[in-house]
Amino acid sequence: MLTKVIKIDNDNIDDRLLTEAAEILCAGGLVAFPTETVYGLGANGLDEEAARKIYAAKGRPSDNPLILHISSAEEIVPLVQSVPEAARKLMDAFWPGPLTMIFPKSSIVPYGTTGGLDTVAVRMPSDPVANRLIALAGLPIAAPSANRSGRPSPTTAEHVMQDMDGRIEMILDGGPVGIGVESTIVDVTGDVPILLRPGAVTMEMLQETVGHVDIDPAITGPMAADVRPKAPGMKYRHYAPKAELVLVEERKNKAGGGTRRMGQGRYAAELTVPEPVSEPISEAVIGRINRLVQEKLSQGYRVGVICTDETENQYPAGIVRSLGIRGQQETIAHSLFAVLREFDDLQVDYIYSESFARDHLGQAIMNRLTKAAGYHVIYTNEKKEEEQHGRQ
Ligand code: AMP
Ligand code: MG
Repeated sequence: MLTKVIKIDNDNIDDRLLTEAAEILCAGGLVAFPTETVYGLGANGLDEEAARKIYAAKGRPSDNPLILHISSAEEIVPLVQSVPEAARKLMDAFWPGPLTMIFPKSSIVPYGTTGGLDTVAVRMPSDPVANRLIALAGLPIAAPSANRSGRPSPTTAEHVMQDMDGRIEMILDGGPVGIGVESTIVDVTGDVPILLRPGAVTMEMLQETVGHVDIDPAITGPMAADVRPKAPGMKYRHYAPKAELVLVEERKNKAGGGTRRMGQGRYAAELTVPEPVSEPISEAVIGRINRLVQEKLSQGYRVGVICTDETENQYPAGIVRSLGIRGQQETIAHSLFAVLREFDDLQVDYIYSESFARDHLGQAIMNRLTKAAGYHVIYTNEKKEEEQHGRQ
């Protein structure tokens, strides 16, 4: 299949170009398009056959549910059985925007879209190209991230090309996305909202709007084999670079960093949330990363380092990439997946990464980084300098 790439001028959206894309969607085809989070791979969310094509193009297991994207809040009504009060408040506060909510599905939503679940995930993106495309198609658009399953999510149209060329009908190129990590997901089917995936609508923002919010344990650590995940997708390895990625972190003692309880009840979680986000990374972390880099280089491996602008010149060896400014979390989120993809292209064998505070957007950043690392964390201040597998 020939994949057509169409450039869209975000400031002057040409409806004729988007109409062609909408027609492909209405005919059951696949179109990748920009959203404010990452690029999405869209299909008619009410057509099981179209959803099946998404799974095939991504190489994604078909029990991993898709998110339905709508262009105005009222479009949710036929898709769900009810909109609880907390969901209404969250919609008012954060739609259009990077917040997905899980509802009991109505009968028009096929199981082929929800991975067999009786619930459906719905989001209203704020990106003007996404919004206009969905409106023109006149359909809820099922759209997972437009990467091959297991690869980092695409934040540019070029990333989508790398993964989807020849597999889908069209890519709308609206330039780099704004946020760079996938939407926040909140389950609103129970009495208390549950955070299933952290994103740019942060835990702090959710709590400010609806009071307390629980946290699904899958966010803070790997899932035990005998735990039935809330969503099948949560059990799959995500965001994985080809190299072995290891995070290096200074474990704060109680006096230094401290912990904070996030969420309540069954899903309450202790998170180390601590130092202000701009606190400089310690000499111990830098020293440890440099020793690890030297060790692997001397064994003949290609080695990458992930750091920030503040520390970039303190790593003399290896291929060093800064994610942005430590004190400006948006800059880190924005380049995270692009840097992981670049290391794939550079075919490095090992990547050592600085870690980040887990508050605000840092929760999403660390969630993606620790997942990409398969929860492999080395702590600098262990008595014996040996590798730790965080929380396993
Ligand atoms: P992606 O579209 O790649 O950003 O990933 C979609 C993710 O949304 C899935 O992997 C699930 O974790 C989540 N999701 C979608 N639908 C549901 C649902 N009905 N219940 C719980 N989680 C869902
Ligand atoms: Mg994805």
